[in-house]
Amino acid sequence: MFIPTDSWLNRARMFEVSKTDGSSKARLGRLFTARGVIDTPVFMPVGTQGSVKALDPRELREMGTQIILGNTYHLYIRPGLEIIRSAGGLHQFINWPHPILTDSGGFQVFSLAKIRRIQAHGVEFRSHLDGALIFLGPKEAMEIQRVLGSDIAMVFDECPPHDCAPKDAATAVGRTIAWARECREQPRAQDQQVFGIVQGGSSPELREYCAKAIVALEFDGYAIGGVSVGEPESEMMKAVEITEPFLPVHKARYAMGLGTPAQLVELVARGIDLFDCVLPTRVARNGTAFTYKGTVSIKAGFNKTDFRPIEEGCACYACQNFTRAYLRHLLNVKEILGLRMLSVHNSHMYLRLMTDIRAHLAAGTYGQFRDEFVSNYRPSERILATRKVLER
Ligand SMILES: [Zn+2]
Repeated sequence: MFIPTDSWLNRARMFEVSKTDGSSKARLGRLFTARGVIDTPVFMPVGTQGSVKALDPRELREMGTQIILGNTYHLYIRPGLEIIRSAGGLHQFINWPHPILTDSGGFQVFSLAKIRRIQAHGVEFRSHLDGALIFLGPKEAMEIQRVLGSDIAMVFDECPPHDCAPKDAATAVGRTIAWARECREQPRAQDQQVFGIVQGGSSPELREYCAKAIVALEFDGYAIGGVSVGEPESEMMKAVEITEPFLPVHKARYAMGLGTPAQLVELVARGIDLFDCVLPTRVARNGTAFTYKGTVSIKAGFNKTDFRPIEEGCACYACQNFTRAYLRHLLNVKEILGLRMLSVHNSHMYLRLMTDIRAHLAAGTYGQFRDEFVSNYRPSERILATRKVLER
């Protein structure tokens, strides 16, 4: 069942802002999908290969996950479309009956693929896995996402490195717009939303030009891409600040691939509604935990006989049941439970942060929350460890 492309302009309201913050551009909202209403601002745990690393769907739901992200590029390479199609779509295949957003594969093609030739209608590249020659463009990316059956599909875009020449950034913006137009012409799965992506690096002119062109195409929501590509934090914030004014207020905004907890708080204040980031599960695998005061190395020696939880007051399963000393031991002897519990805590921490953000937005206290959170948050593990030694 495909919806004719004409219906792109005749869809029901997908997003509503229920409250705006008096001290910033932050908004409390609701995103309506076929598989449920999502309260925003929202964090989407990343299920790159059809699984949020080390976590199962029951845990994800228990910790408040509303929507997860799946990667078109990875799922297309393995297990491949035929298997997912036979399973009845991605939701069925991975047993996640709740909303899923899929990226278009563009980011992975430009960052992971081995050899590539950019053509008018897509990119020819070799799989990072076995070197197989693959072509992915707007048509293919939309077709794959249609088969996956995600609730929100992303357009296929070109994401150049942050330090590319201005000429290359302009070319990438041109292709991104042309490809967005092509994506829009493709059929989509029933009730599937499609978000446009704004590129343009740190150039205000390119961002404005790209945003206006993408918004003119009328998508269900808009993403800011080309952030989290190795640029300094100030540049990332600037890219969001210069793009946001050109995005319609009544559509959801998504900052792709961001960020640390303090960055999320700051990005919400800049009018962003959706986030995804691999950090919670990635740093867990290095033995690092996120807390409201910053990151802390659970593997570090100072946790040897620390029989407190990772974070006092945290309601996650790991903090309710295990001590830092035990988790440190598990990590040191490479027991899977150790990294699983850190993944549980870190993902829970991100989701709890978003719940707090929404509660403060509802109560009209976001400005105060933002100030306190950011001033208490120490991103450096070393500083936190030092502070901890001083406290004891
Ligand atoms: Zn915890």
